[in-house]
Amino acid sequence: MTTSTATCPHCGAGLVPIVYGFPAPDAFEQVARGEIVLGGCMMYPGAPDDGCPTKGCSGPTVEEPARTR
Ligand SMILES: [Zn+2]
Repeated sequence: MTTSTATCPHCGAGLVPIVYGFPAPDAFEQVARGEIVLGGCMMYPGAPDDGCPTKGCSGPTVEEPARTR
């Protein structure tokens, strides 16, 4: 895997991988360390691979599609 150096356009924080699906127990520790972001159980087309680890930030750097449900 190549390491991305992308940063959040909103707060400038380095982006971290977004983990989708049911998170493993240690995933929460990784979230606490700002190493990953949880993307939730819902996967949608065009879901971003990386997101902003900053709480309260806009999160994923791409616009979320309109919720269908
Ligand atoms: Zn951000």
